Formats: sequence, structure tokens, C-alpha cells
Amino acid sequence: MRRKKMYPELIALGGAATRPQNGEKRPPIGGSAILLRYGEFGFLSDCGAYQARGKALEKETEQVIFDYKTIGGEYKIPIVKSLMNYLKQEDTLLPAKSDSILPDFSILNKVRYLIILLHHGHHDHVGGLPVLRKMLAGKGIRPIILATAPTRDFCKQAWTDQLKIMANKGQRSGYDRIMMYKLLKEIQIVNPGQTLSFGPFDITLIHAGHILGALSALVKVAEKKVFFTSDISFNNPLIPGATICSLDNVGKLDYLVSEFTYGKQRKHISKETESNRLINDVRKTLEEGGKVLIPALSIERVEIIFEALRQAGITKRWPVYINGLSAKISAVTYVRYGIIDSEIEKHFVENINQSYTIARSNNACVMIAPAGMMGGGWSVYFGSQWASDAKNLIAFTCYQIKGSPGYKLLTMKRGNELKLGDENICLRAKIRKYSLSAHASGEELEAMIERLKPKKTLLVHGEEAQIDNFVRSSVKNAEKMIVGKRYTI
Ligand SMILES: [Zn+2]
Repeated sequence: MRRKKMYPELIALGGAATRPQNGEKRPPIGGSAILLRYGEFGFLSDCGAYQARGKALEKETEQVIFDYKTIGGEYKIPIVKSLMNYLKQEDTLLPAKSDSILPDFSILNKVRYLIILLHHGHHDHVGGLPVLRKMLAGKGIRPIILATAPTRDFCKQAWTDQLKIMANKGQRSGYDRIMMYKLLKEIQIVNPGQTLSFGPFDITLIHAGHILGALSALVKVAEKKVFFTSDISFNNPLIPGATICSLDNVGKLDYLVSEFTYGKQRKHISKETESNRLINDVRKTLEEGGKVLIPALSIERVEIIFEALRQAGITKRWPVYINGLSAKISAVTYVRYGIIDSEIEKHFVENINQSYTIARSNNACVMIAPAGMMGGGWSVYFGSQWASDAKNLIAFTCYQIKGSPGYKLLTMKRGNELKLGDENICLRAKIRKYSLSAHASGEELEAMIERLKPKKTLLVHGEEAQIDNFVRSSVKNAEKMIVGKRYTI
């Protein structure tokens, strides 16, 4: 009997559009995990988790103490001495229910040999791995897991956050700290420029420019070439420690799997111009005696914003605070890699009491705090305290998904009411948005597609309507990737 010819296929487990008949409708951003399968072999591009609704801050008065632990004998990672304090402190987005935060791992059923590349350390790209690792162990599969050293550091941050969140809600996270540390040790450290072979796959790693340690990947299998951008940036000189993506060694492609987070924003916006606009607005607000809240992503955005404020002399003239444990851990990581100055640590809010004092004080100041969309964490609390005063400014610096409190604030009229955390606020403060995004613009994505000339482009990690628009109006052979659908290469 003749055997059927085997073709590689791409299948999204998460991080793409969902068909309503697949059951629960999930957001198209979050839970990034794209499988390239060839027979029993799989290459998994990212293994993220979804983020969902926030929860009110819990009162906690004790200080969190940092210590350092050496992992794998190579480098140090910050740990928190007082775990119980850490577990009680609330500063990130919360999943609606534990099992709803994961991509559809059942799609991996036919895979016996798996290599997983964690492209960068954001939660939506790495948060699903501990549970997947446990599931695979139950089936006797030991995956090879690849990441850069900074991504491994950020993984610890993302996974610990997730444990803390689940513990807060009395939910089972599917893994514990011992498993997490074992998993961190299992990660094989890789670097941009390397090519690795695994079964039928040749995997070349390329700087993605998105955050410190971020990678894109070119994968060759059965004489086909697939390029996974994950999150990518071609032009953001402000990102500390990141090397922008160069497509010089990618060549012509069969398939391109590309992010579309900011694809709707056609033109590339100069980050320097946006950063200057932010600085000017912050300075004006402070000079007029107002307070500034900058909701920020923990990893990379906090550092960009702080550096911009420091270089503009604002940190010398006015109090500038950084709040939220994940933001502090991220900043410590950047300091440890020698990318930013340790001065940032002097600006950490030390404990919850200090947060309340700052919130009630009449003094002009700047508070940088996660979460970036105000879906949870300290940005919600400070938003609830400061949004009703016309002197104040809330400055958003990252993507605001539809339905998030950040999106609502940006689109609502002044004088209207909104529930933020436990408070009903009447919006009077100035609400502005600054594009400091570490993602490619629509124009840049189109130029990439034009240059690489893939036979097909699958768009992921973007709003569905915007992807549909882009596909209709401008780009040949591009389509919206759908979770669970098989794309034969
Ligand atoms: Zn990212």
C-alpha cells in the first residue's frame, strides 16, 4: 500500500481568531501558541496564556523584600523573601477562571516530539507553559524548550504572578513553585543568530526588536520555509536592550505567520515624537499642580517611560514613583543586565501604606503602575483616586483592547461616570494616549510582506475586524488565522 504524502501544517492553539462553533469565544490577543506540525514532530511558537478581568486591590501592609537566587549556576534572578506577602499583593490582571486562560492544548494530541520556542517573556507568550509541561509529562513527552536568558528571567516573573493570582482567588493553577523552578532549569538558553536542528526542523533565531531578549524564528521543514514574527518591531529606538528586527537573512518564504497588534495603525509614528509629547504633557500637568498616572506594561514600558522622564529632568524636579511588584521585578532585571541605571530602584513605592499616602497627597507627582489597560493592579486604584480631578492626567502608553477600562476611559466623555475598582468615578481628568508601542505598524507589516513575498501570510495577535480590513484592502494572499483550522503548507 502506498503511503500518503505528508505535508507540514500550521495550526493555532491560541492567540488568533476563534470561530464561535469552537465553543467559548476568546479574544484574538493573548494565549499565543502556534504549532507547525510535521507527522509526529511539532514546533510550537510561543506558549502563552490569556488575560481576563481584574479584581479589586487587597489590603496588605507588609513590605515585600527582594533577594537573589542563582539559577542553573549562570545568573541571578530576583526572588521574593516573603512569599506570603507576595502572594497577597495584587498587581496584575486576573483570569476569569483557571481553565479559561489556556490555549487549546488538545491540538497537540498527535505530536510525540515537541520543541517549544518562547519568543519573548510577556505573559501572553509564556504563561501557558507550566501547565502544558505538566500535561506533556503525563503523556511521557519531554519537550525541548528554548528561550534567551532575559526571556527565561521574565518567565519566572510571569509564572510567579500567575501563581499569586490563582492563590488569591483560591484556584488551582495546575503547577507550583517547585515545578516552576524545575521548568526554568529545563529551558535551554539560545541567542539570536543561532540555527538549531530538531527532527525535521531547522530553526534560525532572529532579533525581533520587541523587548529585551525577543526573537522571531525562521523554520525550515520538508523544503518549506515558515517565518514566525511573534511580536516584532522594526523601528523603535526607545526600547531598552532590544535590537530591532532585520529581515536580511530571511529570504523568500512559503508561509509567514505575523502579528497584527498595531496593524490598524497604518503609518509608523515616530516614538521620539510620541515620547516628547508625553514628556511635555507630564511637565505641564506637574507645573499646574496636577498628578499624572501612567498605566504601563510591567516589562519594558515601565523602563522606557522612566528613562524618558529621567532624561527630561522630571525625576529630579518632582516625585516619580514605580508601583506594582511585577514592574519592580522587571526593572531589577533590566538593571541586572546593565541596560538601565540602578537609580530606578530608588523610585519604587515601598509598601501599600505609602501607596495610600501618595494617592491622598495634594502634591504633584507621577505614578507609573501596571496594569497597562487598567484591567487590575495599582493603575486601577490610582485611576479611581485621581480620575475625578480635572488637574490630573492619565497617560496611556500601550495597546488598549476593546472593553478594557483603559479603552472605556479613552472613548468616554468627560463628566460621565465609570466604575474603577471599588469606586464610581466621574471623569474629569485629561485622558491621553501616546504610541510607545513595541509593535510594527500596518505600513511596516505590509513592507515586510512585500519584501518576503510569502505564498501565504497568516495574521494573528490582532483585532479581527482590523485584520479583515487589512486583508480586503491591501494585501494579497493574507488571511486571518483561526484557532483550530489546519493550514497545509
Ligand atoms: Zn509582547
